[in-house]
Amino acid sequence: SGTLKIRLRPECRIARCKSEDVTEVTKSTYPDTQLLIGGRWRDGGAGRVIPVINPATEERIGEVAHAEESDLADAVREAEAGFHIWRGTPAVERSRVLRRAAELIRERSEDIARLMTLEQGKPLYDSRGEVIGSADIVDWMADEAKRIYGRVVPARTSSTYQLVLKEPVGVVAGFTPWNFPVSQVARKVGTALAAGCSIILKAAEETPAAPAAMVQAFLDAGLPKGVLNLVYGRPDQISERLISDPVVRKITFTGSTQVGKHLAGLAGQHMKRATMELGGHAPALLFEDANVETAAAALVGWKFRNAGQICVSPTRFLVHERIHDDFVQAFVSKSRALRIGDGMDEGTQMGPLANPRRVTAMEEMVADAARKGARLETGGKRIANKGYFYEPTVLTGVPREARAMNEEPFGPLALISSFSSFDEAIAEANRLPYGLASFAFTGSTLTATNAASAIEAGMLSINGFGIGLPEVPFGGVKDSGYGSEGGTEAIDAYLATKFVSQTAA
Ligand code: NAD
Repeated sequence: SGTLKIRLRPECRIARCKSEDVTEVTKSTYPDTQLLIGGRWRDGGAGRVIPVINPATEERIGEVAHAEESDLADAVREAEAGFHIWRGTPAVERSRVLRRAAELIRERSEDIARLMTLEQGKPLYDSRGEVIGSADIVDWMADEAKRIYGRVVPARTSSTYQLVLKEPVGVVAGFTPWNFPVSQVARKVGTALAAGCSIILKAAEETPAAPAAMVQAFLDAGLPKGVLNLVYGRPDQISERLISDPVVRKITFTGSTQVGKHLAGLAGQHMKRATMELGGHAPALLFEDANVETAAAALVGWKFRNAGQICVSPTRFLVHERIHDDFVQAFVSKSRALRIGDGMDEGTQMGPLANPRRVTAMEEMVADAARKGARLETGGKRIANKGYFYEPTVLTGVPREARAMNEEPFGPLALISSFSSFDEAIAEANRLPYGLASFAFTGSTLTATNAASAIEAGMLSINGFGIGLPEVPFGGVKDSGYGSEGGTEAIDAYLATKFVSQTAA
């Protein structure tokens, strides 16, 4: 099973292919995905597989190998061996490997994007953007690898040097979700490798092939075997097995707050470093002097991107009472104009939801809000009888007790309400335990400055969408987690500080 027939490029072997002579990923071709352990693609020990479903058609398009305990034990052993090789590799060489990986990801972007759309549903246009953006993340981390500086602290005697050294923390266990199957791999793998760590990645079982294609790009770039391993299986078994293993020194997880708290608990129990990028319920504040048309156009784009399945998606739209009605009208008419369809069809602006759980969640949240007095401005229904499609949906006058106002919808649902004062808007923005992204629209520098100081969030974007670039911090506060996955802050989480006092003998 180590022989994988590929179709991305002849030398790029991500998984077994259905047909040997397929040279490009088309609507009807999708590979099965295996585990990567110690530089070799292989099936799980018991030969078990998990089906992969195309959310636009509900068809079974492939399968992914299911790791057993013995596979995880192998992955830990290989990652430990990989760590010893990689930590001894000079930073400049680590940087070169990452740079080559970024180039390969760009070269293969069309194929990787197609895999992602087939398994996840997002429009091809967005998938392409995600893959290219991921290459940029890996490039940024290639540079960071060369900037891991320690420092020299002035000593109390002239014969002593006091050195602060930064060392890779060790083997990392990374858990990535299905909503950004590729960029999350770039962030976690790119940063771990830049720091000199090895990593066992567990990507989402529902979207396995695009992450595997990303992993292949790192291998083809010359990464030594064992430094990067990829497993799939039962998420709770894998996380408990890896977090409790003494070889694993750091955890990084992106997903729901509920699962994040569980994994943070395990990490605490076993004294492991952890980065937690969890759920959000982003407020978007539109002050009285905001440009309604510009804000509505921008916010419709951000709200329904990836069908709303984004942790930084704007969710609670808090609009000053004087512009509320105009904003609702503009937002609703632009929402209705969106083209919904199979992400593989050029021109589609919003694809299906990634899985049936999200459709059920939308139906339940909208019914609950309506029962409690919310007004349905548009949407509110499934579309078509095949595929997990749900209409872009706008609710106004949603009472605070409604589920949607408290739980992360993670779907195409916009909740618009009005406020009359700055303090009222801030109080609502900060009401929830979440604190990930936030947005504000205003023509006033004073209002912008006051909002920046008052909002409890890890990220605030004013009059634009400036979140998520490789060079800026990405992370939350409160129940949205801790740590940063971007900017110069990101690599710190993968480094341990060692102090050396060296006196001349
Ligand atoms: P979920 O909470 O069970 O899973 C979320 C992710 O965590 C999946 O990728 C899953 O494979 C993984 N996971 C689940 N249990 C795990 C465990 N014990 N150990 C390791 N990994 C585990 O449910 P779901 O239906 O996939 O998603 C539900 C909610 O999760 C969404 O509504 C959203 O709020 C949140 N979510 C957030 C992000 C994000 O980007 N922050 C991404 C995906 C999901």
